[in-house]
Amino acid sequence: MDFKTLIREIPDFPQPGILFRDITPLLADGEAYQKAINKLAVFAKEKGAELIVGPEARGYVVGAPLAYALTAGFVPVRKKGKLPGQTLAVQYGLEYGNDVLEIHVDAIQPGQRVVVADDLLATGGTMSATIDLVKKLGGNVVGGAFLIELMELGGRNKLGDLDVFTLVQY
Ligand code: 5GP
Repeated sequence: MDFKTLIREIPDFPQPGILFRDITPLLADGEAYQKAINKLAVFAKEKGAELIVGPEARGYVVGAPLAYALTAGFVPVRKKGKLPGQTLAVQYGLEYGNDVLEIHVDAIQPGQRVVVADDLLATGGTMSATIDLVKKLGGNVVGGAFLIELMELGGRNKLGDLDVFTLVQY
């Protein structure tokens, strides 16, 4: 299946000069969505994932069905102030300024095998922060799964020697 035909390019979003890769056509195609998640699931199963951790909001659209396919748990990482329980926070750099991501402190048992998931890997900043949170809780991050990789931004290198699977690359 040619997944790229279902990923739309939107120029100048969210800022002038950015070419946004829009996955909503892929999500709207039931067969393509299922096939895409199933491919990520083959990878995550090989890694022995017990938990999938994904950042809001598109990380849920990928991470939750991935967890379901594996009979694994899903743990949400959210922007500051959204999770109701006690949280651990990490600050991470954006192109302009900083943002904060949080996780529930009791969401991961030490040693649990975690695959982190999101729709797209760009600079790797969001995923580095997510991995930081998982590691601080004692989780064993065994892989990263993404629908899209923007290769020239080098996000994969930022994740060190983590085993990273991406469905399509630009
Ligand atoms: P990074 O932190 O790797 O630079 O950026 C990745 C994060 O930003 C992901 O959470 C992703 O959802 C979002 N993102 C950045 N650029 C795009 C894009 O072109 N398309 C989509 N769908 N998400 C993007």
